Amino acid sequence: MSQDSALLSLEEVSKVYTMGDVEVHALRSVSLRIDEGEFVAIMGSSGSGKSTLMNLIGCLDRPSAGHYALAGKDVSRMSRNALAEVRNLTLGFVFQSFNLLARTSALENVELPLVYAGVSTRERQRRAKEALSRVGLGDRIHHHPNQMSGGQQQRVAIARALVSNPKVILADEPTGNLDSRTSLEIMAIFQELGRSGMTIVLVTHEPDIAAFASRVLVMRDGRIETDRRQQAVVADPGAVPRHEAQP
Ligand code: ADP
Ligand code: MG
Repeated sequence: MSQDSALLSLEEVSKVYTMGDVEVHALRSVSLRIDEGEFVAIMGSSGSGKSTLMNLIGCLDRPSAGHYALAGKDVSRMSRNALAEVRNLTLGFVFQSFNLLARTSALENVELPLVYAGVSTRERQRRAKEALSRVGLGDRIHHHPNQMSGGQQQRVAIARALVSNPKVILADEPTGNLDSRTSLEIMAIFQELGRSGMTIVLVTHEPDIAAFASRVLVMRDGRIETDRRQQAVVADPGAVPRHEAQP
């Protein structure tokens, strides 16, 4: 256990992919601390290392060099099984494409992580309903994804990320498939989670979306080029009339 108070701490982390005899330096000695309750947006052009950084933060991959501590545990040298356990206990994931099961109700989609965790049916349903209420879908729990709008599907995906009560939500382009008004609704939910103390790390291409975060990192060539804190713009979906929303 380090004395470091950061929830998430990367020290001189590098990632090198080897393809045949070519080495790709996807991350070059990145050091980064994120404290509990921060809302961080990661920006940067394609190929700058955003997904590689998210995969490491999300314990989906291990660094080639350097150290990564998550919630006080050094996870940089853990086995794949140990990483999976840390992931399930500590992290929730939200993706651009929602990744919901199509012929399965919202409730069952949200229950799924708890099925893998061996939680009883009754407790699963209670927690899944609570998570769906938290994203404003308490009255849609029996709908299937194909009966829902993109924004509603993304809210189900956020509920699924929340249901295991993670410390950190990692979101890769969560508004990439949504129109601007729906994007605002989703960002309002993330901000609400942030106010309740959740730590959020989100990748986006759009400066308008990064404006809702309280800290913005810009990646370039495998390095963090800039790292600045800012006054977050408050996401207010009511401010944009629906008929003016542009895809
Ligand atoms: P971004 O998400 O910012 O577009 P990535 O992290 O996906 O950037 O990629 C960073 C660099 O690493 C790019 O040059 C990319 O081609 C390379 N890269 C990413 N994943 C792999 C992989 N699995 N194998 C080889 N090279 C990879
Ligand atoms: Mg990427």
